[in-house]
Amino acid sequence: MAKRVSILGSTGSVGRSTCKVIDAFPDDLQVVLLAARSSRDDLLVQARRYRPEVVAIGSMEDANRLRAELAGTNTRVVVGEAGLLEATADVAADITISAIVGAAGLKPTMAAIEAGSDIGLANKEAMVVAGTFMKHAAERMGAAILPVDSEHNALHQCLRGEKQEEVKRLILTASGGPFRTYAGAFADITPKQALNHPTWDMGPKITIDSATMMNKGLEVIEAHHLFGFAPEAIDIVVHPQSIVHSLIETRDGSYKAQLSKTDMCDPIQYALTWPERYPSPFEGLDITKGLCLEFFPVDRLRFPCIQLAYDALQVGGSAPAVLNAANEVSVEAFLAGSILFTDIPIINRRCLDHLGHRGADSVEDLLALDLETRAFAHTLL
Ligand code: MG
Repeated sequence: MAKRVSILGSTGSVGRSTCKVIDAFPDDLQVVLLAARSSRDDLLVQARRYRPEVVAIGSMEDANRLRAELAGTNTRVVVGEAGLLEATADVAADITISAIVGAAGLKPTMAAIEAGSDIGLANKEAMVVAGTFMKHAAERMGAAILPVDSEHNALHQCLRGEKQEEVKRLILTASGGPFRTYAGAFADITPKQALNHPTWDMGPKITIDSATMMNKGLEVIEAHHLFGFAPEAIDIVVHPQSIVHSLIETRDGSYKAQLSKTDMCDPIQYALTWPERYPSPFEGLDITKGLCLEFFPVDRLRFPCIQLAYDALQVGGSAPAVLNAANEVSVEAFLAGSILFTDIPIINRRCLDHLGHRGADSVEDLLALDLETRAFAHTLL
């Protein structure tokens, strides 16, 4: 029987890659739910192609248009977060690709876990904000969380068959972003420069996070929650080619690395077909074509956002949620041209210092703190 696949964030970069993988295995993977915030036309094209049971869209106006356009099909249209949460609980997917960007993806992802669906996790913010709650819910429901983020997907692969106590450390690779060797003043960096990533083609939020290396910091937090390693056992190494997606070091001194092309379809296929491995329909990595792999230490002074993430993990509790919310506001403000590139870590730091020590007993607490942090961050702009 085909696996029932739900795609949260189906019109974004990860969502579209997920569709490509599904196209390659039409007998094994069946789309049952597609959700997008506002890309109505793209969602309509996908709905016509995959004929899911449900499509979800953000606004009532878009929902009404979709209903008219999908009249006579078996696809139901739901609207807003409430509609999406109810549909997610309803649809009984075997696996849900969680690719809604930012903290907005948290509740729908939790709803999918609570419905017993495995998760292909592309939304690292959900794990950063509420990792402990997500892990507990997944354990309770017997749902697997399979990272789609390339680094964590690599770690998942490297850790297969290893005993945790025999693994000394996890090593996340970082491309270093566009400013690894930049000689100019960081304060003068424009959004256009920052959006020009050397190896990965991704959405604007994550591309800016790569430029500040906040992305790698958030990935340290994500790795901590996903794999249960202490912060001091999670390292970062700069690897400009982005061919080695991450490594582990075992206590007897071996390194295990995962290598593949820089194509999100690979980790997505891994998650969708786990625990099996299907033959790849995509062109693979050719290691005979003059492959050159370089590794450098990461410069934490040049990229202060990395230390912020370790500090947030040190504080623990809700601190990572505060850091994440602050960063979403500061990145948006930078993209809008209202703050400098170098203001991003400053605003993030001030929010972390001001609100990072609050506790949180539930996902609702975390979401309330998320809103409070955003409001505070706006006062700093
Ligand atoms: Mg990544």
